[in-house]
Amino acid sequence: MTPDLARCPVCRAALGARETCRRCRTALGAVKAVAAHGRRLEAAALVHLAAGETEAAQRLIRRARLNRRTRFGAWLAVRALAPPQPPPLPPTDPGSTDRPSRSAEFAS
Ligand SMILES: [Zn+2]
Repeated sequence: MTPDLARCPVCRAALGARETCRRCRTALGAVKAVAAHGRRLEAAALVHLAAGETEAAQRLIRRARLNRRTRFGAWLAVRALAPPQPPPLPPTDPGSTDRPSRSAEFAS
């Protein structure tokens, strides 16, 4: 199971900006380092995904999700791990409203 890196691993208090837990004083440096590494992996995956480098993005997303699970990571996984979609078909209806109408062409 992926640990919840938004909470203290000892007492489950929400993490703040401090290096120790506000409730139980546990040192949180390692937890924050793992979370930061996951954020860097997600950011790198997004760059690869935007560049159309799907395989590299998939590899990074899988690694990031071993470190941390976030809504952003889930969104990335859906985008990068989904099978490629075929290009949309052109409209076949001659009366389609996708094209400008002839009356609009001759209006001016
Ligand atoms: Zn704690």
